[in-house]
Amino acid sequence: MKRGVLTVLSGFSGSGKGTIIKKLLSVHPDTYALSVSATTRQKRMNEKTGVFEQDGVDYFFLTKEEFEKRIVEDRFIEYATYNENYYGTPKDYVFECLDKGLDVILEIEVQGALQIKEKFPDALLIFMTPPDAETLYQRLIGRGTETEDVVRRRMKTAIFESSLMDRYDYVLVNDTIDECAEKMHQMVTLAHDRAVCSTKLIDEIKKQLNTFSFD
Ligand code: 5GP
Repeated sequence: MKRGVLTVLSGFSGSGKGTIIKKLLSVHPDTYALSVSATTRQKRMNEKTGVFEQDGVDYFFLTKEEFEKRIVEDRFIEYATYNENYYGTPKDYVFECLDKGLDVILEIEVQGALQIKEKFPDALLIFMTPPDAETLYQRLIGRGTETEDVVRRRMKTAIFESSLMDRYDYVLVNDTIDECAEKMHQMVTLAHDRAVCSTKLIDEIKKQLNTFSFD
């Protein structure tokens, strides 16, 4: 059995990462696992349902002290500070799922994504974007829940993030949900066959070839 692909999905706030991940998990429940991150930010309320985020489901909500203790204990694959809060990917679950052959999705921001690429060169990095900047802006103000200040801050963050987009393996344009989710699935599926993920097969073929002799 092949190990799963460690798949990082980043993208501008408002690019629709959450929707695409939900779609992917519902269409391919036996292929993917979604990593639950730890954070020091407060739980948020869902504007539509009025329900608060749940510990262990949306995030593991930790105090700053607990988070810093876990950094020292080396319990994160990566971590970063975003809007003055810590966010990090706990190690155990990710490695367990990869060993089981599941493709693990990390929905994380750009600094964490680049740490992952550095530590795991076989990780697949996908950056999601709306088709153009105007659409991104319209999606942000269209939510109707954000103040002008928040929209301005998110657009500024987008400018910073765009400077790192070319460090990713793929850029995924989110135009329609179904097409975008399918395209992401194709990217991950093909990633299994990259040479960097096929070292065992390569070694085996080399060994087999060496049993032939043509002197
Ligand atoms: P939010 O507070 O809106 O849920 O997330 C803010 C940002 O943190 C998003 O860009 C999200 O992708 C990112 N993020 C969530 N979990 C992690 C994580 O474990 N590590 C890193 N580096 N970023 C994360």
